[in-house]
Amino acid sequence: MALSGEYDNSNIFAKILGGEIPCAKVYEDEAVLAFMDVFPQSKGHTLVIPKSASRNLFDTDEDTLGPLMLAVQKIGEAIIKAMSPCGVVITQFNGAPAGQTVFHLHFHIIPRYEGRELSDHGAAEMASAETLAAQARLIAAHL
Ligand code: 5GP
Repeated sequence: MALSGEYDNSNIFAKILGGEIPCAKVYEDEAVLAFMDVFPQSKGHTLVIPKSASRNLFDTDEDTLGPLMLAVQKIGEAIIKAMSPCGVVITQFNGAPAGQTVFHLHFHIIPRYEGRELSDHGAAEMASAETLAAQARLIAAHL
């Protein structure tokens, strides 16, 4: 997948936004959706996406970025309260060579815990729907 190009309406996050595929929802407003990553690199790994269609950071308009970044901060704070990590990594990949696999803009919020290794990006095990739903409820309760 090239860095620039047409937005593909059939990408997995577009389907989540359209309600075709379920997710463990943490937060939603008119501009943003946040949900648990189904292959979490650590406990509490959350994705924050804009509702508007863009592939990556570089084809996104500024009206989208403001609310999106505020949501990343707000949800990160809720994760800190809910899960008490020792650190938080925030990542965002642009283009397949950079590691992007889903071509709808998204930020990863990945909590870090002392002494616990991080699963590699794209190599984590799938979590159960029950586990993710419970974590989403816990984080949402701290928003
Ligand atoms: P990227 O590799 O594009 O930066 O991140 C895509 C992320 O989406 C990965 O961390 C991957 O685990 C996650 N992911 C892929 N498919 C699904 C899905 O169907 N549901 C959820 N919740 N996450 C997904």
